[in-house]
Amino acid sequence: MLVLDGVDRYYNNKAAVSGVSLSIPSGSFVGVIGRSGAGKSTLLRMINRLVDPTAGSIRFDDLDVTRLNGQALRDWRARCAMIFQQFNLVGRLDVLTNVLMGRLNKVSTPRALMRMWSEEDRAIALSALEQFDIANLAAQRADSLSGGQQQRVAIARALVQEPDAILADEPIASLDPRNTKVVMDALLRINKHYGITVLCNLHSLDLARNYCDRLIGMSAGRLVFDGAPAALTDDV
Ligand code: ADP
Ligand code: ADP
Repeated sequence: MLVLDGVDRYYNNKAAVSGVSLSIPSGSFVGVIGRSGAGKSTLLRMINRLVDPTAGSIRFDDLDVTRLNGQALRDWRARCAMIFQQFNLVGRLDVLTNVLMGRLNKVSTPRALMRMWSEEDRAIALSALEQFDIANLAAQRADSLSGGQQQRVAIARALVQEPDAILADEPIASLDPRNTKVVMDALLRINKHYGITVLCNLHSLDLARNYCDRLIGMSAGRLVFDGAPAALTDDV
């Protein structure tokens, strides 16, 4: 269970996120919705500590996320993988190597530094690509792929980290409708098949309703809705 309690984040005395309290049971597929600037991205980034809260607490089971540093913080980040709108792959490297990057925290430091991947690591990475129907692209440069393909590589990279949660920040914002479906289906598959919690920032209410068990609505940094998709009637 992830629990946020009274979380604020200020930038220059202006609140990006204000007084957010919520609990997310493991295994949920939660959509975070709201207009641009509502604080969705800041909320997600605070959970994996890319951004530090100004006030409030974030806990995961017995772990006080807001107090982590050093190796404990790196371990936490590996447990909640981020997916970004712009994919964040290493464009000049091949697809398989990009996915293997997700295993960096699973191998010893010397091996990670030397990029000495075992056959097992390669098999795990290839199997992740197979699950999203892109194993045939393993040897291609990441920057030669379409947006939908690149986002599936990013999801495969997140999966091989064996995370507890995936934090997806507008993962489909730069994709066409067909690739949007492919990528949302990939996130849904990860959630249902592995029980990995998914927190996904979305602009589209229709998509959020179709895919999420629960919606969190944000407006001007505040939580303005938290409930089942069917309970959402007003425009957030
Ligand atoms: P959303 O993801 O819903 O579009 P954001 O979390 O990106 O919202 O932004 C919330 C508010 O915080 C916005 O007003 C944005 O301009 C501001 N903000 C976000 N990041 C920063 C930053 N690094 N510096 C200053 N202001 C920021
Ligand atoms: P998004 O589409 O994810 O909301 P933005 O365009 O709002 O992206 O922000 C892109 C980056 O710029 C983010 O890292 C965010 O933290 C930062 N940012 C957003 N608003 C501001 C701001 N007012 N001042 C400084 N940095 C900002």
